[in-house]
Parts: sequence; C-alpha cells; structure tokens
Amino acid sequence: SRLNHITKNIHAANKSLSYSTKEVRKVPMIINGELRISKSDTWIDVTNPATGEVISQVPECTQDEMEEAAENSQEAFLKWREQSVSKRVRYIFNLRQLLDKKSKEIAAQITEEQGKTLKDADGDVFRGLEVVEHAASMTTIQMGESMQNVSKNMDLYSFREPLGVTAGICPFNFPAMVPLWMYPLAIASGNTMLLKPSEHDPTASVTVAELALEAGVPPGVVNVIHGRKKCVDFLCDNEHVKAISFVGGNRAGEYIFQRGTSNGKRVQANLGAKNHGVVLADANKEDTLNALIAAGFGAAGQRCMALSTVILVGEARSWIGELTKRAQKLNVNVGTHPDADLGPVITMDSKKRILDLIKTAEDEGCTIALDGRNFTLKGHENGYFVGPTIVTGVKPHHTVYKEEVFGPVLCVMEAETLDDAIKIINNNPYGNGTAIFTRNGPAARHFQHEVDVGQVGINVPIPVPLPFFSFTGSRGSIRGDLNFYGKMGVYFYTKLKTVTASWKEDDVTAKLSTAMPTY
Ligand code: NAD
Repeated sequence: SRLNHITKNIHAANKSLSYSTKEVRKVPMIINGELRISKSDTWIDVTNPATGEVISQVPECTQDEMEEAAENSQEAFLKWREQSVSKRVRYIFNLRQLLDKKSKEIAAQITEEQGKTLKDADGDVFRGLEVVEHAASMTTIQMGESMQNVSKNMDLYSFREPLGVTAGICPFNFPAMVPLWMYPLAIASGNTMLLKPSEHDPTASVTVAELALEAGVPPGVVNVIHGRKKCVDFLCDNEHVKAISFVGGNRAGEYIFQRGTSNGKRVQANLGAKNHGVVLADANKEDTLNALIAAGFGAAGQRCMALSTVILVGEARSWIGELTKRAQKLNVNVGTHPDADLGPVITMDSKKRILDLIKTAEDEGCTIALDGRNFTLKGHENGYFVGPTIVTGVKPHHTVYKEEVFGPVLCVMEAETLDDAIKIINNNPYGNGTAIFTRNGPAARHFQHEVDVGQVGINVPIPVPLPFFSFTGSRGSIRGDLNFYGKMGVYFYTKLKTVTASWKEDDVTAKLSTAMPTY
C-alpha cells in the first residue's frame, strides 16, 4: 500500500508538470524511501528502440537533489551499519522473493526501453536474482578471520566492516542485472548505495531499486539519482561516497577510475571487450555453430561477453559458409515477438556507429559475407534495427576488429594453428572472455593455460561465472583490483579491521621496554 501511495504521488506529480504528456513517463528518483519527480529543467528522452518513439524521460538531477540524496545515504548508513547481519540478510530474502514475483513485469520494462527479446530480458533479471541469492549468504561471506594465542594471553581477529556510502554507475545493456550486481552485496554488507542507472533505459533499474523498499529496506539505504556526466562527476567527487562500482565502456570507465581514485575512493570498473571464440575442426560442429551464432548475435551483440570474433583454426576454416547460413535464418524482430532471436540496438546513434564500422571493414578490404545494413522491419521502419552481419577476412589491424562494435556483427578471422589463434587473442588489449570449441582435452588445457583472458569457456561460449565466483575480466576490460560479486565483491564493499587483544588473568605489569615487541 505504501508503494501504491508513492505511485499515486508520482502520477499526480507527472500531471502537474507542464511539459508532461499522457504518453511520456517521467522516471522518478528515489531519495529517503520515496519515489520523487525531479525538479530539473533538463530531461533526457528515452526511446523504445523498436519504434523510435519517446516513451519516457529521465532527468539530469539538480545539484540540490544530488546533494540531498548523498546526505540522506550518509545518514541512513549511520543507522544501517548498526543492524545485525541476520536482519540485513532477511531483507535480502524478501528482495529475492519480490524479484522472482515481479520478474515478468521487469522483463517487459527492459524490452520496452532496451529492445532485447523478452526471453533475453528474463535472463537479465534472473542473472541478477542469482547475485541477490549470493548476497543472502552474507552471514558467512562477510566473516573475518581469527587466531588465538598469537602471544601469551593474546588473540588476533579481523572484521570486514562496511565502507559507508557506495555508488553504482550502470550501463544500458543489463538494466536489471547490473544494478543487482551492485546494491544487494553493498547493502547486505552494511553499506548504503546511491545508484545511477543508464540514461538510455532507467525504468527497470528504478523498479529493481524500488523493490528494496518493498522488501522493507529502510529509507535511504538504496537511493537513485539520474543524469549523465554531471551526475557521474558528482559521485566521483562527493565526500560521502567511499567506493564506486562502474560497469560500462572504456572511455567513461577510465575517466571514472581516474577521477574516483584520485579523490581517494575505491573504484571497481568493468569495461569493454572483444571476445574471441576459437574453433578447432574436431569440435562438435552442430553445437559449435549454434553456440557461435547465439553468442555473437544474442541481445543484438550488445553483451560485454558477446563472442564478437570467431577464429577458425586449420580445417575449421571451411565452416564459414555454414556459419553465414545459420545467421541468415535469425529472426530480427521487436523484442515482444515470441519468435524474435534479436531485437534492435539501443539508439539511432548506436546504429549509425555500427553501420559506419561495417563500412570501414568494406573500405579496408574485408568481405561482408552477410550484410545487415539495409535491414528494415515492416511496420517498424523507425526502429534501430541492424540485421546480422558477418565480416570475413578480418585481420588485427582492421578498424572493425580494433573497436568494440557492440552490435550484431561477427568478425571472422582465420589461423593456421591454435598457437596462432592464442597469439591473436593475447595481442588484443581486452581480456574479458574467450572460448574454445574442441573435443581435444590437451588442446583445451593448453588454451586454458596460455590464453591471457580472465574468463575462459571450454565448449561454453559465454563463460560468465555464477555469483559465488567472481566476474573476472582482465587486462583492458577492468580497472581496479577487486572484482564484481563472489568473495571479491564483498571485499570491495568492506574494509578490514584487525584487533589484537590481550587479556591477562593476573594483574602483572610488564616491564617497560621501548624495543619493538617480538612476542
Ligand atoms: P557507457 O560507458 O556509455 O555508459 C555507462 C555509464 O557511464 C552510464 O551510466 C553513462 O551515463 C555514464 N557515462 C557515459 N559517458 C560518460 C562520460 N563521458 N563521462 C562520465 N560518465 C559517462 O556504456 P554503455 O554504452 O551504457 O554500455 C556498453 C558498454 O558497457 C560496452 O562497452 C560493454 O562492453 C560494457 N559492459 C561491460 C560489462 C563488463 O562486465 N565488463 C558489462 C556490461 C557492459
């Protein structure tokens, strides 16, 4: 009923805004447990990528609103840190149930603003829910260590204490999963979180944060503010913010890492990628071709773990034709269509960028074996659709290979030997994920050992670890040392305090000594 009340208030607030129309929703902020419409006079249009229509607007929050949110997060922290871990975890259990119950509703919001298929949007919510389940084990994973008798009558033990206000800055491609990578672990370990969703598809992120309120999490523990660079700069500079979790592209990520760390904050930043799938000719052909198509074109290639480059090794080089035939059969459609394999890309700018990159490949001498540039969907001519595209003859110096395309474009490279393929991968600056397809155990083991990439799949195209492990992209795909989720995620949101305690049974006074104690 509290949420109904809040929703009614937003409805009323929406009506009172002169620039509001019936169709265009105003995306609320969350401050101190309330969903509020910003007083900003700068609003960013959010479009439905399948139609190009403006469906909602998200504010550039005002300076006063951002400051109010940060102050409120700090005040909430001082109370929240005093809650027992068992109680915090009980809220997480509630959150898990609510997420499960509302997953279809959230998936529909994702499809509307992000464009991905409903089935894929279900996965977006589910992979976030798994992190919530991991956060529910905080009673164990936040434990410190202890050792008795480190000296006579002396024990040594450690705690993992929360940091304070943490901030989460999110990308557009997983509007439910990425906020759920961040805030459940942050709050379950005793912090508060100030979240900034992507300005391209903020609604599902706000819903996911709103569920924390519904789960009973006290006001101020999860706050949401909106905006672009100004909002990001605010989070990087604000005195209350002690740590920043960022997921997004390299440009913004490198900048946030620099600015945040130079202000003395912890920053974990998961960045862009160029993931290679290596195919040996002894692989299960059917399975491998299906895996390559699914991992290259699923979510219209807009996953940081998309297999955007295939390296066909030796005899497998003859598989190009079959790969292209399968990609041709994919159903490009609106995300709500039950048979859609992939939907549109996020914005018209993104579509233009992708088309430009395909053009560079053509100009630089690659072959466009399958060309999705002229794809249009009848009845959705204003949607941001790009058809599946396969570029062959790709070499490391080609622009389409050097840039992260982040669209339904599969680059195909060729290599004589497995070691040649490994060399290509290790020379690429990114290190998010890679996969090998083979039935040859020793070859797979050699690959696993030699490849310098943080997440390796063996006959698994998108090797994203489950949340009791960590997301371990490496090299150019990460800044900061503590990874998202798993134990590392808890380490990121906590600082160690060690206590050395001496309790003598008798009242013997030790002799004064100025020398370093050697126990
Ligand atoms: P993005 O970097 O454009 O935006 C991410 C966030 O940064 C947004 O909240 C945005 O408002 C903010 N931002 C954007 N430009 C900024 C700037 N100049 N200064 C300050 N803040 C800025 O990323 P995106 O396009 O939303 O997401 C796609 C990218 O995210 C891809 O590169 C993808 O590989 C990456 N990604 C990585 C992972 C991972 O775990 N490695 C996961 C998902 C997405």
